[in-house]
Amino acid sequence: MSRFFATIKRPRSIFGHGARWGCGIAAIAALGWFIGVDEKLSATPLELDGLTLVAAPSEQPDDESSESTNQDAKSVSDKKTEKIDHTKKQEVKWVDKYNPLSQAAAYVLKRKGTQPRSNGGYTNTTDKGTYVCRQCNAKLYYSTDKFKSHCGWPSFDDEIDGAVKRHLDADGYRVEIVCANCDGHLGHVFEGEQLTEKNTRHCVNTISMVLVPADEPLPPVLKLEKKRNKDK
Ligand SMILES: [Zn+2]
Repeated sequence: MSRFFATIKRPRSIFGHGARWGCGIAAIAALGWFIGVDEKLSATPLELDGLTLVAAPSEQPDDESSESTNQDAKSVSDKKTEKIDHTKKQEVKWVDKYNPLSQAAAYVLKRKGTQPRSNGGYTNTTDKGTYVCRQCNAKLYYSTDKFKSHCGWPSFDDEIDGAVKRHLDADGYRVEIVCANCDGHLGHVFEGEQLTEKNTRHCVNTISMVLVPADEPLPPVLKLEKKRNKDK
């Protein structure tokens, strides 16, 4: 349509009525010009209407439909390449319960279990996006901080600010990492292995996380109503 309207600017200046009748009349007058009519057509709106009814369909629909097809194709391709800004603050939803968990996920997140070493799950995943907590959707890690440690679990050398809490593990020497929002068990963190410049490895269970692709919005982080009420 932009090409179409660029073309019809000329008749608007010839008729001189475009401004008075507004955009609609200007367009009608322009359509009159399009089929070869002259200044006389601007005499009354009635005449214009009559001409418009005859004149408009021959040119406009094709032009419009091809344009809208192009726009549709453009919006689809834009969507495919669109990157959503996951660094923005995540929405919060107050709930009575976190996400339901499978038995295996509950074993890790709630009972601090560990998945077997494996090259499956997210261990070797290189897809771009944000890893969120399976239990509460809180952002945990960016895929850009993931690296290949060959340890058999997904490994990150940095966490999202404030996303992860550290505790001394029950074994008395490892450092356990949990989701800062829901306290779900994630895995352990090791320092001083010289695997990356940051010299840190968050060794995380696949089942504790969900990868949200870079072109998809993050789900709202779930927070418990009873915690909010306690805070009051
Ligand atoms: Zn969580």
